[in-house]
Amino acid sequence: MSEIKPQLCTSCGKVVSPEKGAVRFPCPNCGKYTIWRCERCRLFSNAFKCPLCNFEGP
Ligand SMILES: [Zn+2]
Ligand SMILES: [Zn+2]
Repeated sequence: MSEIKPQLCTSCGKVVSPEKGAVRFPCPNCGKYTIWRCERCRLFSNAFKCPLCNFEGP
């Protein structure tokens, strides 16, 4: 059984859910970390930072 863990928005740190417009994508720089962005952070183009490679991007 796969357990569904709450995902945190990489930008604001709040819990996100894919059903509510959050998106995830691999880090554009290292590709090893999955970036999550909530709908609000997408809307405001908040920056995210990859904890693995310290890549920052919109
Ligand atoms: Zn967010
Ligand atoms: Zn990275």
